[in-house]
Amino acid sequence: MRTNPAIHIRPLQLSACVILVMTLAAARAAENIQVFFSPHGGCTEAVVENLNRATTSVLVQAYSFTSAPIAKALADAKKRGVNVRVILDKSNVTGHYSSVDFVAHANIATYIDPKHAIAHNKIMVIDGTTILTGSFNFTKAAEGSNAENLLVIQDATLAKVYTANWQAHLEHAQPYEPASPQTAKISRDGGDR
Ligand SMILES: [Zn+2]
Repeated sequence: MRTNPAIHIRPLQLSACVILVMTLAAARAAENIQVFFSPHGGCTEAVVENLNRATTSVLVQAYSFTSAPIAKALADAKKRGVNVRVILDKSNVTGHYSSVDFVAHANIATYIDPKHAIAHNKIMVIDGTTILTGSFNFTKAAEGSNAENLLVIQDATLAKVYTANWQAHLEHAQPYEPASPQTAKISRDGGDR
């Protein structure tokens, strides 16, 4: 008479199975997550590469935003028809022409979140599946001078949570009024941001 082998697993074998399943789960999780470190550890390149792959939507929250290559990648995504929207900390309102003005002039919906002491999130949600987050600000200083980290996470469920939080901040954010490139200087990209 044939029996179901599953009911004959001994405790030791069961433990081995559990360990195997846990190991496989950890491996899958690792496959979904990449990490980059600055200075000069590829954070900016990782952001740009992920933006270049965007096909439908990009949501951005940033404290400081002065990176020219990241601004260009956002503008390029917008040109491809990707729905790009950006929420920034109020410290980005300076009257000087910067990457914030560059993306606003590229017809990217750009907002300022004045509700908090500082709006310190640094996240991107790309195509509802990819999350970029960490200490890495989207600035030249963060890439070249600072010690930072950036995680790139492929997880649609987590992306939904980040998207909901982004939407909550949009509710109290205000449209950004861009500075004119003719009258203002490109001046911001420094400090410890
Ligand atoms: Zn907010």
